[in-house]
Formats: sequence, C-alpha cells, structure tokens
Amino acid sequence: MHGLPELIDPFDRQISYLRVSVTDRCDFRCTYCMSENMVFLPKRDLLTLEELDRLCSIFIGLGVKKLRVTGGEPLVRRGIMGFFDNISRHLTDGLEELTITTNGSQLARFAEELARIGVRRVNVSLDTLDADKFASITRWGRLNQVMQGIEAAHGAGIRVKLNTVALKGFNENELFSLVEWCAVRDMDITFIEVMPMGEIGSQDRLQSYWPLTELRARLEEKLTLVDSAESTGGPARYARVTETGQRIGFITPLSHKFCESCNRVRLTCTGELFMCLGQEDKADLRAVLRNHPQDAAPVEAAIRAAIARKPEGHDFDYSRRRVSGRMSRHMSHTGG
Ligand code: SAM
Ligand code: SF4
Repeated sequence: MHGLPELIDPFDRQISYLRVSVTDRCDFRCTYCMSENMVFLPKRDLLTLEELDRLCSIFIGLGVKKLRVTGGEPLVRRGIMGFFDNISRHLTDGLEELTITTNGSQLARFAEELARIGVRRVNVSLDTLDADKFASITRWGRLNQVMQGIEAAHGAGIRVKLNTVALKGFNENELFSLVEWCAVRDMDITFIEVMPMGEIGSQDRLQSYWPLTELRARLEEKLTLVDSAESTGGPARYARVTETGQRIGFITPLSHKFCESCNRVRLTCTGELFMCLGQEDKADLRAVLRNHPQDAAPVEAAIRAAIARKPEGHDFDYSRRRVSGRMSRHMSHTGG
C-alpha cells in the first residue's frame, strides 16, 4: 500500500491534471512551434494506445480528475477515437473531465463522436481570422477547415474555447476582431505568450514576443475587464468583459509566474513524464510500464517518485535575450 491515493508534490500541490501528448506529429507546421523540416519520433518509440490507456488509468487511480489529450495534433493519430472511447469509462469512476486541445483541422470529422463519448469542451488553437495569414503562420493549414471544425463542435453541443498565441507584428491588429468573433459565438478566448520551446529555424521568437500586459492594456482601451477568480483547472488567469460577458484568459508564463498553483504534469507519447513545462527533468515511465505488464504497483511507485521531484517553478526568461532553444524540446513533444 502507498498511503493516500493522491499525488501530492513537495510544495503541497495536489496533482489532479494530466496532459497527454498522444503524438508528436501534426498536419500543420506553425512557425512558432515547429521547424519546416521536423524530424518526428520513430513509431516504435511511441506508446501504443493500449499502453497510453493503462498509464492514464493508473494516473486516474492516483487522483487525476482532468485529462487533456494534446500533441502534436492529437486527432491525426490513427485510432485515437478508440482511445477516447476506452478512456471515457473513467468518467464514471473519478475522472471529471476528458478534453482535448486541437488545431481543429479534423474536428468536422470527429466532433459528433467526441460529444457522444463525453467531451464537453475543446480548446481550438487559432491565431488569426485571415485566411492568408493563417496559411502563412501554419504553413500547411487551411482556415476554412478549422472554421468547419469549430462549427461542427458547436453543432454537436461542445463548447469551444479559442487559444491564441499573441504575436507581435502578426495578430496585434486582430485583437478586437478575434475577441468580438468569439463574443458573438459565446466563446471564451485565451491568449498565450510565445514560449521558448525547441529550435524553429530562422524565426526569432524574441521579435514576436508580445507581453500580455501590453495586450491587456490595449484591450482595456475599449473594453472593461474585471479580474475573475474563476479557473478551468489550467494555468490561465481570467477576466470577464463587462460589455460582452465573455471570459478572456491570459497565460503568461514569461511575464508572471503561474507556478504556485500548478496542479499538472505532462506525459509524452513515448511515456516520458515532465513535471514542469519549463524544466528538462523527466521520468521514463515506458520502461517500468513495459517491464511490469500486469502489475500497476511499480508504475505507481515510479509516478510517485517523479512527483516527489516536481520543482517549485520554471525559469523561462526573455530578459536574458536567449530564448530560442532555451528549452530544447518542442511544444509538440510535451503538448503545450
Ligand atoms: N496541435 C494542437 C494545437 O495546436 O492546439 C495541440 C498541440 S499545440 C503544441 C498546443 C498549444 O501550444 C497551441 O495552442 C499552440 O498554439 C501552442 N504553442 C505551440 N508552440 C508554442 C510556443 N512556442 N509558445 C507558446 N505556445 C505555443
Ligand atoms: Fe501543430 Fe499545434 Fe504545433 Fe501548430 S501548434 S504545429 S497545430 S502542434
């Protein structure tokens, strides 16, 4: 026996949120996320969907209440709907929310099924409403496809929140149109500061870094924002817009620390567990999982040992003007 089932880290934070990157592959190549010629992991390194299910189920047994499936693009992994279907059995035994972060390209195909399985909310990443700009930032994406995906999700009764990376010189001039586009569709929107994750080729993230303090000040020139204590269990801080009633989230890993309330860990598609998005430390759960195919206890012990090493916080720092490659892995590896 291991005492309490919960996972508590050394700073007394209960780990109740698991983000699972089910693939490092993607049908887009967003310029801030990937280089044009990404080298992906060999298939043999990936956990099978059955292994992912087993590992996620163990986490749920240890008190994880929210599971977010991400990637890469999660909906391009073959058989992923079977994974959703299976893991949704836990929605009746401890798991409170099963959700997904997606680029939306495949949502039109899968929205109905996701809704049937019990997915109530999805995050769709969208940085611009302009088709040409969309094509340039995603390199391979088509805006129309994402719009159809969002429509399909709404049609299936799934709430959609937009995730928008704030990019200086790119979507500054769309700030109000993005917020309004969401308001008329009763959608929340969260802005994210660009993070120094992985080499992306010639792009300089420092140049496109748009601090959300500035973005918010710009919003407040026209709108009334009232800070809200509401949380969706993630790192965003929210404000309500008095004029529209919608929520605007701000994920500011760089200009503010959000670590003190961190309740989450990240599992990659190869079974690495990252205790902090902004630190290199990780635990290899694949080996223990494969060495003990019938016995959950050693896997639980490995998870607990990893949680015992969860750091107090990250140390991303743009002020040193060394951003690109500060964290060697890409966001698509850990899943954002
Ligand atoms: N492909 C899915 C998507 O785009 O939503 C899921 C994975 S993606 C890595 C998750 C989120 O990370 C997206 O909202 C994306 O915009 C964001 N992201 C990727 N690279 C980033 C970076 N360097 N800084 C900040 N956000 C980033
Ligand atoms: Fe793919 Fe998402 Fe990264 Fe864009 S942000 S390249 S959609 S993983």
